[in-house]
Amino acid sequence: MKDAYDVIVVGGGPAGAVAARYAAEGGASVLLIEKRQEVGDSIRCAEGVPVENLDKYLDIEDRWIAAPIKGATIYVPDGTSVKMRTGDENQISGYILERKIFDRALVEKAAKAGAEVYTKTTATGLIIENGRIAGVKIKRLGMEKDVAANIVIGADGVESKVGRWAGLDTTLKLSDIETGVQYLMTNIDIDEENIEFYMGNQYAPGGYVWVFPKGPGRANVGIGLLGSKIKEGGRPIDYLDKFIENRFPNGKIIEMNYGGVPVSGGMEKIYGAGIMLVGDAGRLTDPLTGGGIKHALWSGELAGITAAEAVKAGDFTEKFMKKYQKAWDDKGGKILSRDLILKNYYIGMTDEEVNKIAKSIEGMDFTGVLEVGKLVKILTSIDKKLLLKLGANQLGL
Ligand SMILES: Cc1cc2nc3c(=O)[nH]c(=O)nc-3n(C[C@H](O)[C@H](O)[C@H](O)COP(=O)(O)OP(=O)(O)OC[C@H]3O[C@@H](n4cnc5c(N)ncnc54)[C@H](O)[C@@H]3O)c2cc1C
Repeated sequence: MKDAYDVIVVGGGPAGAVAARYAAEGGASVLLIEKRQEVGDSIRCAEGVPVENLDKYLDIEDRWIAAPIKGATIYVPDGTSVKMRTGDENQISGYILERKIFDRALVEKAAKAGAEVYTKTTATGLIIENGRIAGVKIKRLGMEKDVAANIVIGADGVESKVGRWAGLDTTLKLSDIETGVQYLMTNIDIDEENIEFYMGNQYAPGGYVWVFPKGPGRANVGIGLLGSKIKEGGRPIDYLDKFIENRFPNGKIIEMNYGGVPVSGGMEKIYGAGIMLVGDAGRLTDPLTGGGIKHALWSGELAGITAAEAVKAGDFTEKFMKKYQKAWDDKGGKILSRDLILKNYYIGMTDEEVNKIAKSIEGMDFTGVLEVGKLVKILTSIDKKLLLKLGANQLGL
């Protein structure tokens, strides 16, 4: 490890790997550090990702795909179900990943682009000189070292400290955190190409239960509950166990993981002089679905490009870094704002209201509707009161 780099990326998840890659491809010298022994392990994720633009970040390869997905079914408490399909039987709408392999492949790309990668290496603080970022304090195998850098990219996930160290407000309220618990199950009866969602307070107050197939008879089965709702009804694991008893009575649990998902819809500011936050560290997860992989890739790309441009320009000011926030707002920010409105509406709904909406669209042809925006357009065209409540302008409809 050298004493100085142009850019240090803290965290080797999808956001950090992509940021390191784009910064290195843009000509910057880059250090990527990951505190765990290996990237991608252990996972805290249901591993679902839409197909959209994925091939920009990695060649589509079987080794990191557990299951290609062609449809989704939403179930609500009264048993009504809404089925959505791609239409073309060969068309894939998304993948359930093998994230251990996916995350590693992204880091390989960063390394190939020229980034230096160190695992078992933890950032313990930032070096700040004259009010600007000057590097990172690093701990590796018992050794402590100050490494200089003009730019630090915080990609250290939901428990991010980099943002706080840099003076950015990363705090999350209980209503801004979804707590997820998940089992990897086998011996279960599922449609391998179809994901299942179970919505309503009966299943998951302020959240949902998911079944994401990972091949024959195998799936990630999990639940996300809103932090502020947990005290009302019980622990997420209790809801999940109850669900499994009914849906998969003969299933076997072979792995378990849990973690928090930020659902605040972003942060006021994801940049400062010499600092940018990407992925979960910037709270860029989708507040409605809890999906964060796509936004981690997008924000990593935008921050990596901005970092390389800043190095070329020799400009590490807050004003220059603002370009990253602007690029993010244009690409992902609008989706976060829309889905925050939808999330806030959803968490206030009773099970009767959820049932009613599902009933109104049950049996409709939803071919090709596998995207939140499209589904909302259909729902609001059927129910004008819903459109008024949500606000057409705010939703960008
Ligand atoms: C139960 C659950 C299910 C989910 N399901 C989905 C899903 O199906 N689809 C989806 O899109 N999203 C899902 N998510 C969200 C998704 O996992 C995250 O949004 C995504 O991993 C964010 O990527 P990231 O690179 O920002 O952060 P992470 O993947 O969390 O990576 C951060 C990395 O930083 C490292 N790190 C932290 N601190 C330091 C430090 N001080 N020094 C060095 N390294 C450090 C960590 O070890 C970690 O490897 C789920 C989350 C949970 C909890």
